[in-house]
Amino acid sequence: IKGKAKQAAKEGKDTQRAAVLGAGIMGGGIAYQSALKGVPVVMKDIAQPSLDLGMNEASKLLNKQLERGKLNGLKMAKILASIQPTLHYAGIEEADVIVEAVVENPKVKAAVLAEVEARVGEDTVITSNTSTIPINLLAKSLKRPEKFCGMHFFNPVHRMPLVEIIRGEHTSEETISRVVAYAAKMGKSPIVVNDCPGFFVNRVLFPYFAGFSLLLRDGADFTKVDKVMEKKFGWPMGPAYLLDVVGIDTAHHAQAVMAEGFPERMGKDYKDAVDVMFESQRLGQKNGKGFYAYS
Ligand code: NAD
Repeated sequence: IKGKAKQAAKEGKDTQRAAVLGAGIMGGGIAYQSALKGVPVVMKDIAQPSLDLGMNEASKLLNKQLERGKLNGLKMAKILASIQPTLHYAGIEEADVIVEAVVENPKVKAAVLAEVEARVGEDTVITSNTSTIPINLLAKSLKRPEKFCGMHFFNPVHRMPLVEIIRGEHTSEETISRVVAYAAKMGKSPIVVNDCPGFFVNRVLFPYFAGFSLLLRDGADFTKVDKVMEKKFGWPMGPAYLLDVVGIDTAHHAQAVMAEGFPERMGKDYKDAVDVMFESQRLGQKNGKGFYAYS
């Protein structure tokens, strides 16, 4: 990391223990990455099967590191043991930073944030991994909004370097520095952005998806668009494949948030490919059928 973020990472208080709320795709990935980089983490969920899935995922990723010779068995066991799964907030009061990664529902998130704030000390920083909910809205459920900001990871967490750190109107600079430092400790490249619909990445990504949908309306073949973007333009994947990875339901929801936030740029009066696929429940890789079929 460079410039201001580097300075913030230097100034930020060190995070020695963390907690992740939600052990799904994102929570499991965040817990793994934190533990891998030496920050023990409590992983809390409301469902035992989710905790089991999160732990299995971490174990699979660690096994890959073992196969590649990047870890030995002892180190692997130590890292795995530094992820503490819980259904009851056990050990949460020791966390310096908390990352909320429960379902993308403002009411559920508000309740979870208030619940956890009541269980931790005044110095604990709480963050949310929300992709679309305004940080200023979530901050309203907290008594200490200065200790709260967004910490938006990308999927899959262990491979995507970027973390958007979202400053709410009440977030203190100390909170930002601490979260920047934690992201850097996790081996990530943090950027600090202000709260607005789409934060930074989705403001770039969704106009791109909208342009892709317009090409389809004009009769383009999505496989050809993907091929050109990937093989000729040199991006890791084209827009159709990327939408399948993101999830059509997630994209459909984010698209609506962007249209509401920027009606003049992102509003539309027709159903695009994402709307049609969402209606027919072609959700992408998560249910085996999207633009492409997966087995
Ligand atoms: P997911 O459905 O895989 O996981 C959500 C988990 O939260 C589940 O295990 C569920 O049991 C748990 N949960 C629900 N209520 C809870 C509660 N009260 N306390 C503790 N745990 C609870 O979802 P996900 O894809 O991991 O997304 C989580 C968050 O991350 C969302 O806000 C989402 O917008 C955001 N996000 C997702 C992606 C992505 O690509 N999936 C990328 C960036 C950000």
